[in-house]
Amino acid sequence: MTLIEYISTLGDNPYFGAGAGLFAVGVLATAGRRGLQGATILFRRHCMITMEVTSRDKSYQWLLQWITKYGAQTQHLSVETEFQQTAAGQIKTKFHFIPSPGNHYFWHKNNLIIVERNRDNKMVEVFETVTLTALGRNRGMFMSILDEARKLALQSTDGQTVMYTAMGAEWRPLGYPRRKRPLNSVILDKGLSERIRDDVQEFIDNPKWYMERGIPYRRGYLLYGPPGCGKSSFIMALAGDIDYSICVLNLSDKSMSDDRLSHLLTNAPEQSIILLEDIDAAFVSRDLAKENPVAYQGMGRLTLSGLLNALDGVASTEARILFMTTNYIERLDKALIRPGRVDVKELIDYASEYQLHVMFRRFYPDEPESSAHDFASKVLALQKPVSAAQVQGYFMLHKNEPQTVIDNVIEIVDL
Ligand code: ADP
Repeated sequence: MTLIEYISTLGDNPYFGAGAGLFAVGVLATAGRRGLQGATILFRRHCMITMEVTSRDKSYQWLLQWITKYGAQTQHLSVETEFQQTAAGQIKTKFHFIPSPGNHYFWHKNNLIIVERNRDNKMVEVFETVTLTALGRNRGMFMSILDEARKLALQSTDGQTVMYTAMGAEWRPLGYPRRKRPLNSVILDKGLSERIRDDVQEFIDNPKWYMERGIPYRRGYLLYGPPGCGKSSFIMALAGDIDYSICVLNLSDKSMSDDRLSHLLTNAPEQSIILLEDIDAAFVSRDLAKENPVAYQGMGRLTLSGLLNALDGVASTEARILFMTTNYIERLDKALIRPGRVDVKELIDYASEYQLHVMFRRFYPDEPESSAHDFASKVLALQKPVSAAQVQGYFMLHKNEPQTVIDNVIEIVDL
């Protein structure tokens, strides 16, 4: 008997015949399932359009808010709580509902849209995606949804400044947008605020100048001087004034490394000021470190050359503005503050006569010029350095007593 003849006789065996029947049903079912899967994939590929947005993308939160507002009338919601501080210092709480992880459906301009929100908790940080699927091939629809979502988000941050902080290798909004602080509420020495502001504006307005000369389109500013004189407040107010957000980096963070810094600086959100606060805390001049190696041991894995490389590597087609602050300019390595890395250096010092005068007038607007003059002269007569923060604290002690403020200036020294 040949092998073929032997196999054909197997079919006559009743036990084997039943097994073969079941086997055939199984094969058919599997083939059917595969076919269906294949058809679904083909259908999805050719007749449906999908868009996936990850939580690392800026439009992620915008899209979720938009879906909740205009799209999915879903009953399955997650809650995000927003704290807002009013100018008077009161805290207000607001709840935002966003679609919870899972599938949701909604109609948008006669298109059925499926929303899948997935969460992956396995990663160190929670990683999420939201995928929109619709029938057809109209990419324009997704573009217009993203556009609407962006507009909605911008409307809600109008008059506010978004602050970002570094989380791992990403920039994430820190809390909720803060109300813009008017630039003229930070009182610097005469003409200083305008000078910095005009420099920044000129830089933003002249990309061509940089392109034509092949110079990286970035500008570095260093504000230095004693604490409490308005460095951080000014940068925050400036960001609001030019409609930029602010990305704050803490270089003394022990987890900051050369690679991470370089990645963060090159991937900062558009239209944002990068702020490196208290850079002296992360870096000590090489001389100081050499003199006292024990004191400066283990200051993080960030090296000075790593920081210099990161700063030099910052390149962008749009204006890239870097601000650094320090209370101790003398502790900074010369290489860090040379032109190209720091183009503008400004001392934000203790309150001058001009500042004392303006601060008094602003706090007690009904008082005559002469009172502001008396106040400023009396403070200067103390011959003690006084920061704007001290002046503000002193005024707060005597909110409605301008005369007491003039008579008791000595109190300011202890604040
Ligand atoms: P710095 O960054 O120089 O240490 P901050 O900006 O943090 O100072 O100021 C601390 C506080 O003092 C802030 O609440 C700010 O409102 C107030 N302040 C400091 N400087 C000024 C200023 N020049 N004009 C108005 N307020 C100021």
